[in-house]
Order: sequence, then C-alpha cells, then structure tokens
Amino acid sequence: MNKEIYFDCASTVKTEKEVLDTFLNISNQYYANSSSTHRLGIEADEILSKAREQIARYLCVKKDEIIFLSSATEANNLAIQGVCNRNSKRGKRIITTAAEHPSVMEVFKQKEKEGFDVHYLNYDKYGNIDLNQLNALLTKDVIFVSMMKVNNETGYIFDTDKAYKMVKEKTDAFFHIDATQAIGKEKIDSSYYDLLSMSGHKIGGIKGSGLLVKKKDVLLSPILFGGGQEDGYRSSTVSTPLCASLATAIRLAYSTFDKRREKALKINSYLRENLKKIDEVEIISPIDATPYILSFALKKHKASIISEDLSNHNIFISTKSACSSKEKGYSYVIKNAGYSQLLAENSIRLSFSGKEEIEEGEIFIQELKSSLSRILEDRHEQ
Ligand code: PMP
Repeated sequence: MNKEIYFDCASTVKTEKEVLDTFLNISNQYYANSSSTHRLGIEADEILSKAREQIARYLCVKKDEIIFLSSATEANNLAIQGVCNRNSKRGKRIITTAAEHPSVMEVFKQKEKEGFDVHYLNYDKYGNIDLNQLNALLTKDVIFVSMMKVNNETGYIFDTDKAYKMVKEKTDAFFHIDATQAIGKEKIDSSYYDLLSMSGHKIGGIKGSGLLVKKKDVLLSPILFGGGQEDGYRSSTVSTPLCASLATAIRLAYSTFDKRREKALKINSYLRENLKKIDEVEIISPIDATPYILSFALKKHKASIISEDLSNHNIFISTKSACSSKEKGYSYVIKNAGYSQLLAENSIRLSFSGKEEIEEGEIFIQELKSSLSRILEDRHEQ
C-alpha cells in the first residue's frame, strides 16, 4: 500500500506552505537584527512587532504579554523555573498534575530536589482532575499551579478554568496552562490563566518556534541571561522570520478552527465506533476528550510490534512502549488514570490535524485488523 496515513499529529505536523513562504520572504527581506538601531534593524523590529500584535489578537492578550521562544518545552521551563525562582520567598508550595508532559513533570521534580513542596494532582479515567485534592492543598504559601489544558496522550481536557477560579479565590499563586495540544483545537479563555505555553510545530508552524504568554502582573525571573531581548525574559537574538512564521501558523489554525474540528470529530467517531468492535482493543480516550486525539490499548498484543508492523505498511501512529521485549516502556499518564500496567504498556495514540479523510480511517481499521491477526498474541504478557 502506497498512501501514507499519518495519525501522529500530536507529535508534530508538516509545516504549512504559507508558513514556509513567510519564513523565506522575511528571511530574505528582513534579515537584520531587530535590536540594531539602523534602518534595516528598525524595519526588522517592525515586522516582529506586527507578528506579536497579530498573535496577541488571536490569543486575546496584550501585545507585550508575548515572549517569543523556541518551543513549548522552553516555555514550560521558563514559566515554572521563572515563577518559582522569583517568588520562593512568599512560599514553597507548588502544584501540578500527575498527567503532565515531561517538560513540566521533570521541572517539578527538579524543584522538588531544590526543596520546594511539590504536589501532583490525581485524575480519573474520564479526565476529571481531583479538585477536592486541589482545594485541600490551597494554603496561603502556594505560589504556583501548572495544569495542562489538553493531555497529549489521552486527549483529556482538564477543567483549568474551574481550577483557576479556585486557586485565585484562596491564594495569590500564579496559574500556568500548558496549551501545546489545545491551541487551534480547543477554545481557550484568556481570563483563566496567568501564563500559557505553546509550540508552533503542533499547528503547522516551524519546529523551533514557540511562545509563552505572561500576563502583566506575573513576577517572573529569566532563565537565560545575556542581551536582554524579549523584555529581558529571553536573551538571544530574536529570529524575526520564525516569529513571523509563527504568526502565520496561528492565523491559519484559528481561521480553519471550525472546519478542522468538524473533520477531526468525523474521523474520530468513525475510528472509535470501529475500534469498539475489535475484541483486542480497549478505548482509553473518553467521549468528551478532544477530537484530535484517540487513544486505545491492546489487551493481547504488544503495541510496539503492531506499530512497527503498521509503519511497514505506511501507517504512522504513536506508542509509549519500547520495541525490545526486555525494556518496559509504558504510559504513566494512562497508568496514573487507573488503568493496568499491561494496558499502559500497550497503548496506541492516534492523533489528527483535522484534514484527514474517512477513507484513511477505513484503511487504518483494515490494516490494524490484518496486523492483529498476522502477529501472534503476546502470551508472555498475560
Ligand atoms: N507539552 C505538551 C502537552 C506536549 O504535547 C508537548 C509536545 N509533545 C510539549 C509540551 C513539548 O513541546 P515541544 O517538543 O515543542 O517543546
């Protein structure tokens, strides 16, 4: 079979042509350093300013609340380290969830080693965060709460708006959302966060572009020191072409929001209905998860082997399991939701951009069924 079926859009998507055009045009015309005081520098700075303005409009924030960065990983690191380092005299308690991406989780673990009082919120199989646990943790010494908007493995949509209101009612903590899987896919109300992280390449932008929204009143320390670009929050010569390309990617994502969502819903429900009919499959993503992510687990087969077989048939999906039978890769997100180790080791994530056709879903189901019958059940895991 020749047609490539790419159901791994939560990992990354192909860069949009218009985004690449923006990058090339700006690189050719506005190559000067936007900090330079000569005419070419001023012109580059104007382009940067336009990109910032356009993005701010789409995200419903102020222009000077955008900090251009290289990725969501950098945005998450800056948000967590920056707030914790700057506000540690007020308190040491910081809170996140047990489902976060490693770019949040690993920073919290680091903060734990540094002596912060770190708490991880539980959640259930339906993607409900334990808000009673959050409520009990909300003492005056909480300085920071970080919560992802959409989970990258299961598609859970966490109720960050409600959590934000609870946090603000009882503490002076700053509230961060990791919106990497939500931008251009789920509605985000800018009244319910203090900081927001995102990455360009998840929405057709160029890998290496990203940003942090930092609302005006947030007290943040930089983690990179140098020339003081981006209002002192991110020293490094700013890439005007990358920032302009990010503005194009965000414009495209917002202007196609409804159309893509409708398509994502269609392919998702087609696949969900047909996966349900396969005995070896247990669906993980709840019905109210984002339509862009559909996760399921294999009860009798190794996900890594099925994924490799599908890849040999030009179908590209994502797993958390390791290929070698000795190594035990598993999804902590699925395990922490309350699923068994076996299912957490054998989960498969399908993720979409909102451009997929039902025909691709039909081929996927056929190929998955062939793969399951071609490859023997993994009896050692029973
Ligand atoms: N947060 C979430 C929820 C993600 O899905 C990802 C990417 N998988 C990141 C952060 C990190 O993004 P990047 O690799 O672009 O830094």
